[in-house]
Amino acid sequence: MKQDIAKIHSFAQFWLREYQDVPPQQVCLENCFGEICFSLGFSMDCGHGIEEAFPGMSVLGNITAFKQIIGDITDVALLANAIFSQWRYITHWSMTDSLISANNKEWFCLAFARLAELTKDAPPLHVSIETITGDITTLDVDAIVNAANCGLLGGGGVDGEIHRAAGKELFEECLKLVEGLPKHRGDTGQAYLTKAGQLPCKYVIHTPGPVYCDGQHDEPKLLANCYENCLRRAEEMACTSIAFPCISTGVYGYPKKEAARIAIKTIQAFSPVSLQKVVFCCFEAGDAVIYKRILNEKKEVI
Ligand code: ADP
Repeated sequence: MKQDIAKIHSFAQFWLREYQDVPPQQVCLENCFGEICFSLGFSMDCGHGIEEAFPGMSVLGNITAFKQIIGDITDVALLANAIFSQWRYITHWSMTDSLISANNKEWFCLAFARLAELTKDAPPLHVSIETITGDITTLDVDAIVNAANCGLLGGGGVDGEIHRAAGKELFEECLKLVEGLPKHRGDTGQAYLTKAGQLPCKYVIHTPGPVYCDGQHDEPKLLANCYENCLRRAEEMACTSIAFPCISTGVYGYPKKEAARIAIKTIQAFSPVSLQKVVFCCFEAGDAVIYKRILNEKKEVI
């Protein structure tokens, strides 16, 4: 149960981090909440939880009334179940893309904030980290990361290998993705998800890493953003495993040890919900030695 509470806490934080500051239309309903509730064995009956948890409230809720009662709620399972029921209700009945109303978004923000507060003493969750030497295109994980460029249509190094192995479906999906972006290109540090064409994984997450200049041009922050945003995209699709190449350390020239430290630190600081395993897939054996050494140093410190 401790693990379950930790998962609920992680998810509440994830939801608030992702959605608190975005307009309702950008709230993605297809993420891993259902999986979590399944794993906790909550009722799948939609529409009942709200009334049971908060007698007298209609499904869409009256925010002012809700604000008044939310502070008195102390039952984590009941609240989580009520949120899930509301979620199911919306996903079940929404017929358009603008899935969630402003009122509903506020309801979720209040409910998740209360859930996060009620579960704040749960132990933090961590993903397990594995380092291997190999070709990332062969890995049977949920998502692999592509060290892309801002053009997002393929290039040299690992980017070229991924596109070659995934075939034209991936290129076509990338073309569509780029057409939909405001500047028709990606931003450094952001992460963009596509399906994986012929690859054994389910998704490819494309992230343009920073070109290393001298370390004084925001490179560490931008590289950390790459890792964090990839993890977020993977969580949105309820991935349990993800593999990273050594982003920016090839043609983009990032010093390998510094880059590995940033990668490890960012992943260890992340509160996972669905992710259980992160693989550092190093193409060169020497890179794997760097990762293993840093991970061992950390274990010794603990
Ligand atoms: P960047 O432009 O971000 O520096 P590169 O593709 O030049 O990207 O290099 C990033 C890393 O990807 C390097 O460590 C390189 O050794 C590695 N790499 C190249 N091919 C593969 C592959 N098939 N699988 C995993 N890593 C790879």
